[in-house]
Amino acid sequence: MSRRLLVALASLAAGLGLVLWACSARAEDRAAPRFLGVYRCSAYCPCARCCGRWARHRRTASGIPARGALVAVDPRVLELGSRVHVQGVGPRLCADTGRAIKGKRLDVLMPTHAQARRFGVKWLGVWEVEEE
Ligand SMILES: [Zn+2]
Repeated sequence: MSRRLLVALASLAAGLGLVLWACSARAEDRAAPRFLGVYRCSAYCPCARCCGRWARHRRTASGIPARGALVAVDPRVLELGSRVHVQGVGPRLCADTGRAIKGKRLDVLMPTHAQARRFGVKWLGVWEVEEE
């Protein structure tokens, strides 16, 4: 089996896991958004400067494509597949991880490198939100 095929299969398996998790989470009761605290927020894009060798795959740690309303989180702090509302940014799916993203930190995915650079570093309030 080729290495590329193995990577594709691994991504598929991770994606399926996320979907199954999302379905099981749906059954839980819907509470009001829970304030999680103030997080150090930076931004990134799917380019090689931001993602290194992972940029080639354009995929997140959870296996879904690196585009749309995503954030990278520390999975020990925020579970992959959970949804958060980031102050001034909006609702985001926790779907990626990053080597530098440890503890109360978020990395907001931006469509372009220029937008990621412009975002800089901000301290923003984060709420956990239930999926609709
Ligand atoms: Zn970039």
